[in-house]
Amino acid sequence: MPASLVTETADLLARLGVPADAVTGGSLVVTSPITGERIAEVRETDATGRDAAIAAADAAFREWRLVPAPRRGELVRLFGLELRAAKADLGRLVTIEAGKIVSEGLGEVQEMIDICDFAVGLSRQLYGLTVATERPSHRMMETWHPLGVVGVISAFNFPVAVWSWNAAIALVCGDTVVWKPSEKTPLTALAVEALFEKASEKAGAPFGLSRLIIGGREAGEALVDDTRVAVVSATGSTAMGRAVAPRLAARFARAILELGGNNGAIVAPSADLDLVVRGVAFAAMGTAGQRCTTLRRLFIHEAVYDALLPRLRRAYASVTIGDPREAGMLVGPLIDAAAFDRMQTALDKARADGAVIHGGERARQDLGGNAWYVRPALVEMPAQTEVVRTETFAPILYVMRYTDLDAVIAAHNAVPQGLSSSIFTNDLREAESFLSAGGSDCGIVNVNIGPSGAEIGGAFGGEKETGGGREAGSDAWKAYMRRATNTINYGRDLPLAQGVAFDVE
Ligand code: NAD
Repeated sequence: MPASLVTETADLLARLGVPADAVTGGSLVVTSPITGERIAEVRETDATGRDAAIAAADAAFREWRLVPAPRRGELVRLFGLELRAAKADLGRLVTIEAGKIVSEGLGEVQEMIDICDFAVGLSRQLYGLTVATERPSHRMMETWHPLGVVGVISAFNFPVAVWSWNAAIALVCGDTVVWKPSEKTPLTALAVEALFEKASEKAGAPFGLSRLIIGGREAGEALVDDTRVAVVSATGSTAMGRAVAPRLAARFARAILELGGNNGAIVAPSADLDLVVRGVAFAAMGTAGQRCTTLRRLFIHEAVYDALLPRLRRAYASVTIGDPREAGMLVGPLIDAAAFDRMQTALDKARADGAVIHGGERARQDLGGNAWYVRPALVEMPAQTEVVRTETFAPILYVMRYTDLDAVIAAHNAVPQGLSSSIFTNDLREAESFLSAGGSDCGIVNVNIGPSGAEIGGAFGGEKETGGGREAGSDAWKAYMRRATNTINYGRDLPLAQGVAFDVE
């Protein structure tokens, strides 16, 4: 039997460098979804503390923006080393606080390490263009400069990786960061802050490069409304994005929005069904269906429907559900009772729409009355009704039949969200159609792998109600910098663009 959660959490926090008084006697009660036990009482950041955090980041920015980018990268390199040393402990804390199975908790920390490596390389590759000019003896170029304080608001389901996608890139770009983690996962954030402080000390970096504010919606709003915060990267539900986006627009601040997904996959007649079963199982049931990229809608061609469905049912029936700390567990708990209620409401709606539901019931009540485990639900739907078009953050996979590729691509796109998508096929024409301009309308479009489990090298994000933001790799760094277009005249005349004449004596 694993050790008591309370003791284990306290030990992990101490080893990770979090002071005991930050996690005892505070007003924010933290429970572990594994058993529903109270594991800490965290001190929230009041209005004065929030102001001080933003002021410190703002002051640090004035210094940090002048440090050469490769030297900024050195801090991120040192932080990556701290993460490597603490990987086992931090990954374990992710498991305890967010309920992820062990390999996913560790995977989340690995993702932080990966983005640090990426950012270190990037710190020597921030580049601008030179552009042909129409005027003789002129040069035109683009230069990129740090933007300011980056506010990061993150969701419970990726309690540490999402911050690192933003922070590692923002820091090499010369920005500073203020982080408002989910109120459901403040412990992992405190641990990350402690590790970052260690790296900062070793690097001799200025105070205030990364600050943490703990709290709920109100704390997030403090970042959103503060004119010292140049860009807000907000990850969470579409409802949150709907509240945040207009407030940022009202003060012309930049927004990077990473919101809800409702991801689909198409299984074509030529698909390799062994691969489909494995790909669908991980994408739909992994993280107990609590990933933004979780597979929620599966369109199966009628030619393979009857062969595939029984195999999926077997996979669903056999998956191990329980304490995510135990070896061999594949599905851990939902985050809380509200998540369980929302799942049951969605299943009731699907039933009313004529669905045949396999699974979906509460499981493992032996692990605690306030622990919310479920058997993932495989739901045969006669049509893509309203409940299917809505993101329910739980392991529900709606399965539908199709006959025609164009029609199924249209159905795939007929949802408000646009995050991630897949097609399973061995037919080049089908694959390329899905990838083409007339294919999937999502930010992530895959072939022969599920929609979840992205790597940091690519830009991550989605369209429509997913918010349009991009984070992590590729050129996502540009969102954290401002671009200046420079024109330099090295001649003795002053020709004007477009042949405009304006001669004065
Ligand atoms: P949530 O929207 O409840 O909370 C997310 C964060 O926003 C929290 O830190 C919360 O305190 C804060 N917040 C809520 N309302 C706010 C407001 N009005 N102003 C400022 N901050 C506010 O989301 P959650 O339940 O933690 O996470 C699940 C959701 O996040 C799902 O919809 C999932 O798809 C989405 N998500 C998206 C991505 C992505 O990259 N697209 C990644 C992870 C999660």
